[in-house]
Amino acid sequence: MTGCFQPEALVSFPVISLDSIPTHGLTVQVQDWARGGCGEGLGGTATAVGGQFLVTRLARHIVVRGQLQGTANVACDRCGELLTFSVAGETDCVYLPFDEIVANPNEDDSAQEAPDHGEYDGVALDLVHVVREFFALERPARILCADTDPAADAGCLARFRVRADLASPQPDPRFAVLKGVKPTR
Ligand SMILES: [Zn+2]
Repeated sequence: MTGCFQPEALVSFPVISLDSIPTHGLTVQVQDWARGGCGEGLGGTATAVGGQFLVTRLARHIVVRGQLQGTANVACDRCGELLTFSVAGETDCVYLPFDEIVANPNEDDSAQEAPDHGEYDGVALDLVHVVREFFALERPARILCADTDPAADAGCLARFRVRADLASPQPDPRFAVLKGVKPTR
């Protein structure tokens, strides 16, 4: 009885309709379609993205598990220098149809250790959203030159100081006006 069918279907496009997910799940290769989502999530321009998802369904819930890795050119949050920043990790998220979330608005609040979940329209899930969400969550609050090369920190600080000097604004003319106003008591 083995060999009659492939245990998992393999696809490489991002929009997965609920009805197309077979019992054994769908393996989705993360390819160039994910670059836009990767870049948006990391706040830069993606240069490479890859990974693999296993997409399964549980009634109308779509479960997405897998790993992702992406690289983007991202501006340093201190000096503005473009950095090549890479992130890799695993994702495990359940997507619920909008109408189900609307019908059970309080369900989420009660569960302390609820798995990560998102929402979709109940018809098809666009994995570009999954990719964007993953990279946005994995992105540190600040990306600095030193994150990619600790030795670059001194240069980063120097560039920041130059920028800060260049950017320091002229005194706001409104303050000059205020100086001329005598306090009234
Ligand atoms: Zn920097």
